[in-house]
Amino acid sequence: MTKIQSLRGMHDLLPDQTSTWQYFEKIIAEILERYSYQEIRFPILEQTELFKRSVGEATDIVEKEMYSFDDRNGDSLSLRPEGTAGCVRACMQNGLLHNQTQRLWYTGPMFRHERPQKGRQRQFHQIGVEAFGLKGSDIDAELILLTSRFWKALKIDHAVTLQINSLGTSEDRLRFKDELVSYLTKHFEQLDEDSQRRLSTNPMRILDSKNPVIQTLLEGAPVLADFIDDESRDHFSKVLAVLEAADVPFEINHKLVRGLDYYSKTVFEWVTTSLGAQGTICGGGRYDGLVEQFGGKPCPGVGFAMGVERLVLLLEALDVVPSSVSHGVDVYIVAGSEHTVPSMVLADRLRDQCPTLRIESHCGGGSFKSQIKKADKSGADIALVLGEQELSDGTVGVKYLRKQHPQESVVQTGLADLLNLFFTD
Ligand code: ATP
Ligand code: MG
Repeated sequence: MTKIQSLRGMHDLLPDQTSTWQYFEKIIAEILERYSYQEIRFPILEQTELFKRSVGEATDIVEKEMYSFDDRNGDSLSLRPEGTAGCVRACMQNGLLHNQTQRLWYTGPMFRHERPQKGRQRQFHQIGVEAFGLKGSDIDAELILLTSRFWKALKIDHAVTLQINSLGTSEDRLRFKDELVSYLTKHFEQLDEDSQRRLSTNPMRILDSKNPVIQTLLEGAPVLADFIDDESRDHFSKVLAVLEAADVPFEINHKLVRGLDYYSKTVFEWVTTSLGAQGTICGGGRYDGLVEQFGGKPCPGVGFAMGVERLVLLLEALDVVPSSVSHGVDVYIVAGSEHTVPSMVLADRLRDQCPTLRIESHCGGGSFKSQIKKADKSGADIALVLGEQELSDGTVGVKYLRKQHPQESVVQTGLADLLNLFFTD
Protein backbone atom coordinates (compact mmCIF):
# COMPACT_ATOMS: atom_id res chain seq x y z
CA MET A 1 0.00 0.00 0.00
CA THR A 2 1.33 3.45 -0.80
CA LYS A 3 2.00 5.55 2.24
CA ILE A 4 -0.13 8.64 2.72
CA GLN A 5 1.90 11.83 2.48
CA SER A 6 1.15 15.41 3.42
CA LEU A 7 -0.23 17.68 0.70
CA ARG A 8 2.21 19.55 -1.51
CA GLY A 9 3.12 22.90 0.03
CA MET A 10 1.71 21.92 3.44
CA HIS A 11 4.38 21.14 5.96
CA ASP A 12 4.72 19.49 9.33
CA LEU A 13 6.51 21.51 11.97
CA LEU A 14 8.77 19.13 13.80
CA PRO A 15 9.82 19.39 17.45
CA ASP A 16 13.25 20.81 16.57
CA GLN A 17 11.58 23.67 14.68
CA THR A 18 8.82 24.54 17.12
CA SER A 19 11.22 26.02 19.67
CA THR A 20 12.19 28.76 17.19
CA TRP A 21 8.54 29.35 16.36
CA GLN A 22 7.68 29.64 20.05
CA TYR A 23 10.55 32.07 20.60
CA PHE A 24 9.32 34.19 17.70
CA GLU A 25 5.66 34.10 18.75
CA LYS A 26 6.50 34.95 22.33
CA ILE A 27 8.44 38.07 21.38
CA ILE A 28 5.67 39.26 19.08
CA ALA A 29 2.88 38.54 21.58
CA GLU A 30 4.72 40.37 24.36
CA ILE A 31 5.21 43.48 22.26
CA LEU A 32 1.57 43.44 21.14
CA GLU A 33 0.55 43.24 24.76
CA ARG A 34 2.74 46.23 25.60
CA TYR A 35 0.99 48.25 22.89
CA SER A 36 -2.38 47.16 24.29
CA TYR A 37 -3.54 44.95 21.42
CA GLN A 38 -5.87 42.05 22.22
CA GLU A 39 -5.99 38.66 20.59
CA ILE A 40 -9.02 37.58 18.57
CA ARG A 41 -9.67 34.07 17.18
CA PHE A 42 -12.03 33.28 14.33
CA PRO A 43 -12.67 30.30 12.05
CA ILE A 44 -10.35 29.04 9.33
CA LEU A 45 -13.32 28.23 7.09
CA GLU A 46 -15.73 30.91 5.89
CA GLN A 47 -18.26 31.47 3.15
CA THR A 48 -16.47 31.96 -0.17
CA GLU A 49 -18.49 35.13 -0.67
CA LEU A 50 -16.68 36.79 2.26
CA PHE A 51 -13.36 36.72 0.43
CA LYS A 52 -14.84 37.55 -2.96
CA ARG A 53 -16.39 40.68 -1.53
CA SER A 54 -13.33 41.85 0.39
CA VAL A 55 -10.13 40.60 -1.18
CA GLY A 56 -11.70 41.20 -4.59
CA GLU A 57 -12.95 39.02 -7.47
CA ALA A 58 -10.15 40.06 -9.80
CA THR A 59 -7.23 39.49 -7.44
CA ASP A 60 -4.79 36.61 -7.80
CA ILE A 61 -5.96 35.27 -4.47
CA VAL A 62 -9.63 34.91 -5.38
CA GLU A 63 -9.07 34.20 -9.06
CA LYS A 64 -6.70 31.30 -8.71
CA GLU A 65 -5.36 30.71 -5.21
CA MET A 66 -8.34 29.91 -2.98
CA TYR A 67 -9.19 26.48 -1.66
CA SER A 68 -12.92 26.55 -2.27
CA PHE A 69 -15.39 23.69 -2.22
CA ASP A 70 -19.07 23.00 -1.82
CA ASP A 71 -19.94 21.43 1.51
CA ARG A 72 -22.64 18.81 2.02
CA ASN A 73 -25.35 21.45 1.94
CA GLY A 74 -24.07 22.82 -1.33
CA ASP A 75 -22.74 26.03 0.24
CA SER A 76 -19.52 27.35 -1.23
CA LEU A 77 -16.88 27.55 1.51
CA SER A 78 -13.23 28.58 1.40
CA LEU A 79 -10.22 28.07 3.61
CA ARG A 80 -9.13 31.55 4.58
CA PRO A 81 -6.38 32.92 2.31
CA GLU A 82 -5.77 35.85 4.68
CA GLY A 83 -7.08 37.09 8.00
CA THR A 84 -8.48 40.59 7.56
CA ALA A 85 -11.78 39.50 5.99
CA GLY A 86 -12.59 37.02 8.75
CA CYS A 87 -11.50 39.46 11.44
CA VAL A 88 -13.77 42.19 10.08
CA ARG A 89 -16.65 39.73 9.78
CA ALA A 90 -16.17 38.55 13.36
CA CYS A 91 -16.03 42.12 14.68
CA MET A 92 -19.16 43.15 12.80
CA GLN A 93 -21.12 40.09 13.75
CA ASN A 94 -20.28 40.52 17.43
CA GLY A 95 -20.86 44.24 17.59
CA LEU A 96 -17.24 45.15 18.27
CA LEU A 97 -17.21 48.04 15.84
CA HIS A 98 -20.20 49.90 17.21
CA ASN A 99 -19.08 53.27 18.64
CA GLN A 100 -15.77 51.91 19.79
CA THR A 101 -12.22 51.37 18.73
CA GLN A 102 -10.46 48.03 18.63
CA ARG A 103 -6.81 47.10 18.48
CA LEU A 104 -6.64 43.39 17.68
CA TRP A 105 -4.25 40.67 16.61
CA TYR A 106 -4.55 37.05 15.51
CA THR A 107 -2.36 34.22 14.37
CA GLY A 108 -2.88 31.01 12.48
CA PRO A 109 -2.70 29.15 9.20
CA MET A 110 -3.75 30.64 5.85
CA PHE A 111 -4.22 28.73 2.62
CA ARG A 112 -3.35 29.68 -0.95
CA HIS A 113 -2.97 27.38 -3.92
CA GLU A 114 0.34 28.81 -5.16
CA ARG A 115 3.41 27.17 -6.64
CA PRO A 116 5.41 26.03 -3.62
CA GLN A 117 8.98 27.29 -3.33
CA LYS A 118 11.25 28.68 -0.64
CA GLY A 119 9.15 31.08 1.46
CA ARG A 120 5.98 30.20 -0.42
CA GLN A 121 3.69 27.43 0.79
CA ARG A 122 0.09 26.42 0.35
CA GLN A 123 -0.52 26.32 4.06
CA PHE A 124 1.44 29.11 5.69
CA HIS A 125 1.05 31.14 8.87
CA GLN A 126 0.48 34.78 9.50
CA ILE A 127 0.36 37.00 12.51
CA GLY A 128 -2.04 39.79 11.68
CA VAL A 129 -2.86 43.04 13.45
CA GLU A 130 -5.93 45.22 12.79
CA ALA A 131 -7.09 48.51 14.30
CA PHE A 132 -10.70 49.67 13.85
CA GLY A 133 -12.53 52.91 14.38
CA LEU A 134 -9.53 55.20 13.98
CA LYS A 135 -9.30 57.35 10.91
CA GLY A 136 -6.30 59.51 11.77
CA SER A 137 -2.75 59.02 10.55
CA ASP A 138 -1.54 58.40 14.11
CA ILE A 139 -2.71 54.79 14.13
CA ASP A 140 -1.05 54.09 10.76
CA ALA A 141 2.18 55.37 12.27
CA GLU A 142 1.66 53.36 15.45
CA LEU A 143 1.32 50.13 13.48
CA ILE A 144 4.55 50.80 11.65
CA LEU A 145 6.37 51.66 14.87
CA LEU A 146 5.04 48.41 16.28
CA THR A 147 6.50 46.41 13.39
CA SER A 148 9.76 48.28 13.70
CA ARG A 149 9.94 47.26 17.35
CA PHE A 150 9.36 43.62 16.36
CA TRP A 151 12.39 43.64 14.09
CA LYS A 152 14.58 45.27 16.74
CA ALA A 153 13.52 42.74 19.37
CA LEU A 154 14.20 39.90 16.92
CA LYS A 155 17.57 41.46 15.96
CA ILE A 156 16.74 41.57 12.26
CA ASP A 157 16.24 45.32 11.92
CA HIS A 158 19.50 45.71 10.01
CA ALA A 159 18.21 43.34 7.32
CA VAL A 160 14.76 44.78 6.56
CA THR A 161 13.56 47.95 4.88
CA LEU A 162 10.23 49.71 4.91
CA GLN A 163 8.53 50.61 1.66
CA ILE A 164 5.52 52.84 1.86
CA ASN A 165 3.01 54.47 -0.47
CA SER A 166 -0.37 56.13 -0.47
CA LEU A 167 -3.16 54.77 -2.64
CA GLY A 168 -5.46 57.75 -2.04
CA THR A 169 -9.21 57.22 -2.13
CA SER A 170 -11.06 54.85 -4.42
CA GLU A 171 -12.14 57.85 -6.55
CA ASP A 172 -8.50 58.91 -6.90
CA ARG A 173 -7.62 55.42 -7.99
CA LEU A 174 -10.45 55.27 -10.53
CA ARG A 175 -9.15 58.40 -12.23
CA PHE A 176 -5.63 57.03 -12.11
CA LYS A 177 -6.73 53.65 -13.43
CA ASP A 178 -8.37 55.29 -16.45
CA GLU A 179 -5.17 57.12 -17.33
CA LEU A 180 -3.03 54.06 -16.68
CA VAL A 181 -5.23 51.87 -18.86
CA SER A 182 -5.22 54.34 -21.72
CA TYR A 183 -1.42 54.63 -21.53
CA LEU A 184 -0.91 50.85 -21.40
CA THR A 185 -3.48 50.22 -24.13
CA LYS A 186 -1.34 52.30 -26.45
CA HIS A 187 1.50 49.87 -25.73
CA PHE A 188 -0.64 46.74 -25.67
CA GLU A 189 1.73 44.77 -27.92
CA GLN A 190 4.59 45.20 -25.42
CA LEU A 191 2.59 43.77 -22.51
CA ASP A 192 3.12 40.16 -21.49
CA GLU A 193 0.16 37.80 -21.35
CA ASP A 194 -0.43 38.31 -17.63
CA SER A 195 -0.43 42.08 -17.95
CA GLN A 196 -2.69 42.00 -21.00
CA ARG A 197 -5.19 40.05 -18.97
CA ARG A 198 -4.83 42.35 -15.97
CA LEU A 199 -5.37 45.40 -18.14
CA SER A 200 -9.07 44.62 -18.13
CA THR A 201 -9.38 42.89 -14.76
CA ASN A 202 -7.01 44.64 -12.32
CA PRO A 203 -4.73 47.12 -14.12
CA MET A 204 -3.04 48.47 -10.99
CA ARG A 205 -1.48 45.07 -10.39
CA ILE A 206 0.57 45.60 -13.56
CA LEU A 207 2.62 48.11 -11.54
CA ASP A 208 3.83 45.15 -9.48
CA SER A 209 5.12 43.22 -12.49
CA LYS A 210 8.63 41.82 -12.12
CA ASN A 211 9.06 41.71 -15.93
CA PRO A 212 11.84 44.20 -16.88
CA VAL A 213 10.12 45.07 -20.20
CA ILE A 214 7.02 46.11 -18.29
CA GLN A 215 9.07 47.98 -15.72
CA THR A 216 10.72 50.03 -18.50
CA LEU A 217 7.35 50.66 -20.09
CA LEU A 218 6.02 51.90 -16.74
CA GLU A 219 8.68 54.58 -16.56
CA GLY A 220 6.59 56.64 -18.94
CA ALA A 221 3.27 55.78 -17.30
CA PRO A 222 1.17 58.13 -15.18
CA VAL A 223 2.10 58.08 -11.48
CA LEU A 224 -0.53 57.42 -8.82
CA ALA A 225 0.92 60.10 -6.52
CA ASP A 226 -0.21 62.78 -9.00
CA PHE A 227 -3.84 61.71 -8.63
CA ILE A 228 -4.10 61.71 -4.88
CA ASP A 229 -6.42 64.20 -3.18
CA ASP A 230 -5.29 66.71 -0.58
CA GLU A 231 -6.69 64.85 2.39
CA SER A 232 -4.85 61.62 1.51
CA ARG A 233 -1.71 63.59 0.78
CA ASP A 234 -1.89 65.26 4.18
CA HIS A 235 -2.61 61.94 5.88
CA PHE A 236 0.43 60.41 4.19
CA SER A 237 2.80 63.22 5.11
CA LYS A 238 1.68 63.01 8.75
CA VAL A 239 2.50 59.28 8.82
CA LEU A 240 5.91 59.99 7.34
CA ALA A 241 6.52 62.79 9.87
CA VAL A 242 6.12 60.34 12.76
CA LEU A 243 8.43 57.82 11.10
CA GLU A 244 11.07 60.49 10.58
CA ALA A 245 10.81 61.74 14.15
CA ALA A 246 11.00 58.19 15.48
CA ASP A 247 14.02 57.35 13.31
CA VAL A 248 12.31 54.66 11.27
CA PRO A 249 13.87 54.85 7.80
CA PHE A 250 11.51 54.32 4.84
CA GLU A 251 11.50 54.35 1.07
CA ILE A 252 8.54 55.81 -0.76
CA ASN A 253 7.65 53.34 -3.50
CA HIS A 254 5.10 54.80 -5.91
CA LYS A 255 4.55 51.41 -7.48
CA LEU A 256 3.59 49.66 -4.27
CA VAL A 257 -0.10 48.76 -4.68
CA ARG A 258 -0.46 45.45 -2.78
CA GLY A 259 -2.45 42.53 -4.07
CA LEU A 260 -5.80 43.05 -2.38
CA ASP A 261 -8.58 45.34 -3.48
CA TYR A 262 -9.61 46.78 -0.15
CA TYR A 263 -6.74 49.17 0.54
CA SER A 264 -6.90 52.96 0.54
CA LYS A 265 -4.46 55.67 1.65
CA THR A 266 -1.43 54.18 3.43
CA VAL A 267 0.06 50.89 2.25
CA PHE A 268 3.41 49.48 3.32
CA GLU A 269 5.65 46.46 3.09
CA TRP A 270 8.72 45.36 4.94
CA VAL A 271 11.17 43.63 2.62
CA THR A 272 14.48 41.87 2.96
CA THR A 273 17.13 40.89 0.44
CA SER A 274 18.30 38.00 2.64
CA LEU A 275 15.68 35.46 1.53
CA GLY A 276 15.91 35.44 -2.26
CA ALA A 277 12.78 35.99 -4.34
CA GLN A 278 10.23 35.85 -1.50
CA GLY A 279 11.47 38.97 0.23
CA THR A 280 8.28 40.50 1.66
CA ILE A 281 8.00 39.57 5.31
CA CYS A 282 5.16 41.88 6.27
CA GLY A 283 2.57 43.92 4.42
CA GLY A 284 -0.42 46.04 5.25
CA GLY A 285 -2.32 49.24 4.94
CA ARG A 286 -5.52 51.14 5.49
CA TYR A 287 -8.91 49.82 4.38
CA ASP A 288 -11.49 52.42 5.29
CA GLY A 289 -14.17 51.12 2.93
CA LEU A 290 -14.16 47.46 3.88
CA VAL A 291 -16.69 47.44 6.71
CA GLU A 292 -19.15 49.36 4.56
CA GLN A 293 -18.49 46.98 1.70
CA PHE A 294 -19.67 44.20 4.03
CA GLY A 295 -22.88 46.10 4.71
CA GLY A 296 -21.87 47.70 8.01
CA LYS A 297 -21.83 51.32 9.08
CA PRO A 298 -18.67 52.97 7.80
CA CYS A 299 -15.75 52.17 10.11
CA PRO A 300 -12.13 52.91 9.30
CA GLY A 301 -9.60 50.11 9.53
CA VAL A 302 -5.88 49.64 9.17
CA GLY A 303 -3.71 46.59 9.63
CA PHE A 304 -0.93 44.35 8.48
CA ALA A 305 0.06 40.71 8.34
CA MET A 306 3.45 39.08 8.55
CA GLY A 307 4.49 35.74 7.17
CA VAL A 308 5.74 33.55 9.99
CA GLU A 309 7.61 31.03 7.79
CA ARG A 310 9.53 33.81 6.08
CA LEU A 311 10.39 35.46 9.36
CA VAL A 312 11.59 32.19 10.85
CA LEU A 313 13.68 31.60 7.70
CA LEU A 314 15.13 35.07 8.14
CA LEU A 315 15.95 34.47 11.82
CA GLU A 316 17.78 31.33 10.77
CA ALA A 317 19.54 32.93 7.80
CA LEU A 318 20.82 35.73 10.02
CA ASP A 319 21.62 33.33 12.85
CA VAL A 320 19.96 35.49 15.49
CA VAL A 321 18.07 32.88 17.48
CA PRO A 322 19.70 32.65 20.93
CA SER A 323 21.27 29.24 21.50
CA SER A 324 19.23 28.79 24.69
CA VAL A 325 16.18 28.55 22.42
CA SER A 326 16.24 24.87 21.76
CA HIS A 327 14.54 22.05 23.48
CA GLY A 328 16.52 21.23 26.54
CA VAL A 329 16.48 19.35 29.78
CA ASP A 330 18.21 20.57 32.93
CA VAL A 331 17.73 17.63 35.25
CA TYR A 332 17.19 13.96 34.38
CA ILE A 333 15.99 11.57 37.04
CA VAL A 334 17.28 8.02 37.02
CA ALA A 335 15.85 5.30 39.25
CA GLY A 336 15.69 1.57 39.63
CA SER A 337 12.50 0.19 38.10
CA GLU A 338 11.30 -0.96 41.53
CA HIS A 339 11.52 2.67 42.76
CA THR A 340 9.04 4.24 40.39
CA VAL A 341 6.83 5.60 43.14
CA PRO A 342 9.49 7.52 45.12
CA SER A 343 11.18 8.77 41.95
CA MET A 344 7.94 10.13 40.50
CA VAL A 345 7.17 11.79 43.81
CA LEU A 346 10.65 13.28 43.95
CA ALA A 347 10.34 14.63 40.39
CA ASP A 348 7.05 16.30 41.10
CA ARG A 349 8.24 17.79 44.37
CA LEU A 350 11.23 19.28 42.56
CA ARG A 351 8.88 20.76 39.93
CA ASP A 352 7.13 22.55 42.81
CA GLN A 353 10.35 23.72 44.41
CA CYS A 354 12.34 24.59 41.26
CA PRO A 355 9.69 25.97 38.89
CA THR A 356 12.16 27.30 36.33
CA LEU A 357 13.93 23.98 35.77
CA ARG A 358 13.13 21.51 33.03
CA ILE A 359 12.98 18.12 34.68
CA GLU A 360 12.66 14.83 32.84
CA SER A 361 11.80 11.61 34.65
CA HIS A 362 13.17 8.51 33.07
CA CYS A 363 10.36 6.21 31.97
CA GLY A 364 10.55 2.73 30.60
CA GLY A 365 13.01 1.10 32.98
CA GLY A 366 16.38 -0.33 31.94
CA SER A 367 19.75 -0.58 33.65
CA PHE A 368 21.33 2.39 35.44
CA LYS A 369 23.97 2.46 32.73
CA SER A 370 21.48 2.80 29.91
CA GLN A 371 19.50 5.38 31.87
CA ILE A 372 22.62 7.50 32.41
CA LYS A 373 23.30 7.28 28.67
CA LYS A 374 19.81 8.66 28.01
CA ALA A 375 20.39 11.38 30.60
CA ASP A 376 23.56 12.38 28.79
CA LYS A 377 21.83 12.43 25.42
CA SER A 378 18.99 14.58 26.77
CA GLY A 379 21.42 17.45 27.23
CA ALA A 380 20.79 17.63 30.98
CA ASP A 381 23.49 19.08 33.20
CA ILE A 382 22.60 16.95 36.15
CA ALA A 383 21.34 13.40 36.59
CA LEU A 384 19.69 12.54 39.88
CA VAL A 385 20.14 8.92 40.85
CA LEU A 386 17.74 7.11 43.13
CA GLY A 387 18.87 3.59 44.06
CA GLU A 388 18.47 1.20 46.97
CA GLN A 389 21.17 2.92 49.02
CA GLU A 390 19.83 6.44 48.46
CA LEU A 391 16.31 5.42 49.38
CA SER A 392 17.30 3.91 52.66
CA ASP A 393 19.51 6.97 53.49
CA GLY A 394 16.92 9.57 52.38
CA THR A 395 19.49 10.92 49.91
CA VAL A 396 19.83 11.35 46.15
CA GLY A 397 22.93 10.87 44.03
CA VAL A 398 23.82 14.02 42.12
CA LYS A 399 25.82 13.24 39.00
CA TYR A 400 27.30 16.15 37.07
CA LEU A 401 27.13 15.33 33.37
CA ARG A 402 28.91 18.36 31.90
CA LYS A 403 31.73 19.03 34.33
CA GLN A 404 34.52 17.17 36.04
CA HIS A 405 33.14 16.67 39.49
CA PRO A 406 32.60 13.47 41.44
CA GLN A 407 29.09 12.26 42.12
CA GLU A 408 27.68 13.64 45.38
CA SER A 409 25.23 12.24 47.83
CA VAL A 410 22.77 14.92 48.93
CA VAL A 411 19.97 14.70 51.50
CA GLN A 412 16.61 15.01 49.72
CA THR A 413 15.59 18.04 51.79
CA GLY A 414 18.64 19.97 50.55
CA LEU A 415 18.23 19.06 46.91
CA ALA A 416 16.06 21.98 45.75
CA ASP A 417 18.48 24.55 47.16
CA LEU A 418 21.41 22.84 45.48
CA LEU A 419 19.66 22.75 42.10
CA ASN A 420 18.38 26.32 42.28
CA LEU A 421 21.88 27.51 43.12
CA PHE A 422 23.52 25.43 40.40
CA PHE A 423 21.21 26.68 37.66
CA THR A 424 21.25 30.36 38.59
CA ASP A 425 24.96 30.63 37.69
P1 ATP B 1 3.74 37.78 -2.06
O1 ATP B 1 4.14 39.07 -2.66
O2 ATP B 1 4.86 37.02 -1.50
O3 ATP B 1 2.85 36.96 -2.94
P2 ATP B 1 1.37 38.77 -0.84
O4 ATP B 1 1.37 40.18 -1.23
O5 ATP B 1 0.53 37.78 -1.56
O6 ATP B 1 2.87 38.21 -0.79
P3 ATP B 1 0.01 39.25 1.68
O7 ATP B 1 -1.30 38.80 1.22
O8 ATP B 1 0.26 40.69 1.88
O9 ATP B 1 1.14 38.64 0.74
O10 ATP B 1 0.39 38.47 3.02
C1 ATP B 1 1.25 39.02 4.01
C2 ATP B 1 2.49 38.18 4.20
O11 ATP B 1 2.19 36.79 4.27
C3 ATP B 1 3.46 38.26 3.04
O12 ATP B 1 4.23 39.41 3.13
C4 ATP B 1 4.28 37.01 3.24
O13 ATP B 1 5.26 37.22 4.24
C5 ATP B 1 3.27 36.03 3.74
N1 ATP B 1 2.80 35.16 2.65
C6 ATP B 1 1.89 35.44 1.69
N2 ATP B 1 1.70 34.37 0.88
C7 ATP B 1 2.50 33.38 1.36
C8 ATP B 1 2.75 32.02 0.99
N3 ATP B 1 2.12 31.45 -0.03
N4 ATP B 1 3.64 31.31 1.71
C9 ATP B 1 4.30 31.86 2.76
N5 ATP B 1 4.10 33.13 3.17
C10 ATP B 1 3.22 33.89 2.49
MG1 MG C 1 0.89 36.49 -3.16
